Amino acid sequence: MPTFHFDNTYARELPDFYAPWQPAQVPQPALVQLNHALATELGLDATALDSPEGAAIFAGNTVPDGAEPLAQVYAGHQFGGYSPQLGDGRALLLGEVIDVHGQRRDIALKGSGRTPFSRGGDGKAALGPVLREYLMGEAMHALGVPTTRALAAVITGERVRRDGAPPGAVLARVAASHIRVGTFQFFAAQGDTAKVQQLLDYVIARHYPEAKDAANPTLALFQAVCERQAALVARWMCVGFIHGVMNTDNMTLSGETIDYGPCAFMDAYDPATVFSSIDTQGRYAYAKQPGIAQWNLARLAETLLPLVDADSDRAVALVTEVLEAFPARYQQHWLDGMRRKLGLTTAQDGDLALVNDFLALLQAQAVDFTLAFRGLADGSSRDLFANRADFDTWAVRWQARQPVVSNQANPVYIPRNHQVEAALEAAVRRADYAPFQRLLALLQHPFDAQPDAAAYALPATPEAAAGYQTFCGT
Ligand code: AMP
Ligand code: MG
Repeated sequence: MPTFHFDNTYARELPDFYAPWQPAQVPQPALVQLNHALATELGLDATALDSPEGAAIFAGNTVPDGAEPLAQVYAGHQFGGYSPQLGDGRALLLGEVIDVHGQRRDIALKGSGRTPFSRGGDGKAALGPVLREYLMGEAMHALGVPTTRALAAVITGERVRRDGAPPGAVLARVAASHIRVGTFQFFAAQGDTAKVQQLLDYVIARHYPEAKDAANPTLALFQAVCERQAALVARWMCVGFIHGVMNTDNMTLSGETIDYGPCAFMDAYDPATVFSSIDTQGRYAYAKQPGIAQWNLARLAETLLPLVDADSDRAVALVTEVLEAFPARYQQHWLDGMRRKLGLTTAQDGDLALVNDFLALLQAQAVDFTLAFRGLADGSSRDLFANRADFDTWAVRWQARQPVVSNQANPVYIPRNHQVEAALEAAVRRADYAPFQRLLALLQHPFDAQPDAAAYALPATPEAAAGYQTFCGT
């Protein structure tokens, strides 16, 4: 049997924060995809896992030695409304391993059956959403965005109760940890300050050890989380990523992107872009993401108040100061990212206007966000504009900055919505995984143009793209 060297601190140190649980047995596990590079990074034997034994492990039929499967409890604000009890309803943490870089990583299953936190759900996952999360997470990783990763996707040999009775599947997911803003909320909402302190100590030790020696470790932790989220959301914005469901239970303390459900990448630049069918108010639209991140961080701050200072007024004042710094911190990261995309090698006063004017041009002329930046290096961007004179006027200012644009700053391949859909449809309807594998291979090297892959760099036609909607992977 393939061996995992588990060392399960969450199970050991936070006994009140989960329910021990076993994955459901499934009839016929089979590997669809195994991430050999990630397995190796985790210190696992990829060859041994690329086997029926590996499929049985990632489907939940075999619990490997040393794993202590558990369902984590958490709460969360969903679309602004508080749900006091969420938790892993279809996921289980198997355990933690130390990777070859010395980093502690969670290995979890998603779609492994009902748990005490399933509420009305079946605990299962369908193949389409599992492959979608695989593609999106790996694409984001290759784009340099902190994210949970896909270790494996397996089909289970059963059909799940969804539209069209699609094949059931399980995703093996790797994360720095699965602790969410909602994990803090669960205990804070019950007034259990001792548990919040316990969780805080654990998060500091695991993710922010430098905060331990700060004058106010709680405040230092909060500030560090804000910083990582500011950097993270700035990265999203620079690649045109729309998470789609930025509920507080989908925001990690580690600063990794998590829970790829209705997420999608924007084609034509439009700040109001929303793809998720359930986000009817546009709460999680592209341009709203930094503000929502700050809102979520305010919810985190509320859970920490009693630990920031015994004097509640003083505690509020201290966290408010950190929260109010968030927009500026975000903008700094975003502007740095945009400077890199435009090839600006120094920082100058007019840079913000230069970036914003470019984006305004893209919006006014409905130009593809990814192509517009990519084409700056070889001069092909100009042809994307219906009104070239407007582009030329802007380009004079840009050229005056003597830009040096690197193709490593602007991807040629992102997970284009129509390509993702085509890959999933082939897999789900025809068990044809070739389109998925082809797309995945390109997305793993998003900055390097490949021969015979020109079509993958293009958005769908506006007619085909109109009204594109994504759905939560439930
Ligand atoms: P998500 O929208 O994927 O972040 O999920 C929100 C909450 O619903 C989490 O607590 C999930 O564990 C739970 N959930 C989502 N889908 C299912 C399902 N099919 N069965 C049970 N619980 C689910
Ligand atoms: Mg979630």
